[in-house]
Amino acid sequence: MDIDDLAKRVIAGERRALARAITLVESGRADHRAEAARLIEAVGSAGREALRIGLSGTPGVGKSTFIEAFGMFLIERGLKVAVLAVDPSSARSGGSILGDKTRMERLAREKDAFIRPSPAQSQLGGVARRSREAVALCEAAGFDVVLIETVGVGQSETMVAGMADLFLLLIAPAGGDELQGVKRGIMEIADIILVNKADGALKDTATRTCSDYAGALRLLRKRPQDPDGYPRAMLVSALTQAGLPEAWEAMSALVEWRRSTGHWARNRAEQARHWFEEELRAGLLARLENDPSIRARVARLGEAVARGETSPTAAAGSVLASLDD
Ligand code: GDP
Repeated sequence: MDIDDLAKRVIAGERRALARAITLVESGRADHRAEAARLIEAVGSAGREALRIGLSGTPGVGKSTFIEAFGMFLIERGLKVAVLAVDPSSARSGGSILGDKTRMERLAREKDAFIRPSPAQSQLGGVARRSREAVALCEAAGFDVVLIETVGVGQSETMVAGMADLFLLLIAPAGGDELQGVKRGIMEIADIILVNKADGALKDTATRTCSDYAGALRLLRKRPQDPDGYPRAMLVSALTQAGLPEAWEAMSALVEWRRSTGHWARNRAEQARHWFEEELRAGLLARLENDPSIRARVARLGEAVARGETSPTAAAGSVLASLDD
């Protein structure tokens, strides 16, 4: 495959090239991995930057309806929008909760939109890297906004937040005043909580839910990357599109503040460093696991450690030392 040519086509905004490039970074084959690494290096030279928005919410909360409505809203404002689904559950079950292209029919037909479902039957592991590289490719292809959608499964939200500039949490209206068992961790990474379905019979409940969340957010420790009033909770209706302009305005104001104060650049730099270290860890582990002689040695030492003949620390040290040989 001519990687330089593919990179040029991606940068020129050719959709088929972008789709092919994402397929390449999704592949687990060793030769594909090497090509993917070269491709990512090559497109990086375009120096383009998109607004990367992470979006999470449990199934049924209205993610696809919201993305369709919000995506159209952005396109009407002259922006190009890419949508990527990150669904680690698909690696385990072979089926994806997200990623059904037909969910966003209108948006999928737009020339300024690009929708990429989560790869089905993907290999375990490597979800973060594939997603990150797909984001980088969309960015190089000239999209202004990259929406990274995920579900509340395992660590997927933290992972997506680690590659996004802005993180949205979509919530459904709930009766009573308990906070739907939303994990504290996700409240802490959300920049804006959007209470969806604020329409019709659900409007009153949505309004109550929204003020409950606003109250809960006020109790969180103030984060350095936030101006006053953030993180915040807002009402939207993906169905009627009510609240979308306000939500976009809140996102834009936050981004502008973070850019002007240097938090945006600092966050990107920290993310890059974090992913470098993750890659290094994954690479070292792969070396340990893929080399038959090291594997045999690890198995032998594991037995020795279990029998109490050597300490875990000494055994690990001897394996690590043998990597230099
Ligand atoms: P996802 O599983 O999070 O992607 O949720 P969907 O977008 O598929 O929506 C789940 C259901 O909620 C569908 O029946 C939608 O029509 C409905 N829904 C989504 N957004 C809204 C909204 O703003 N208002 C109302 N009333 N229903 C909505």
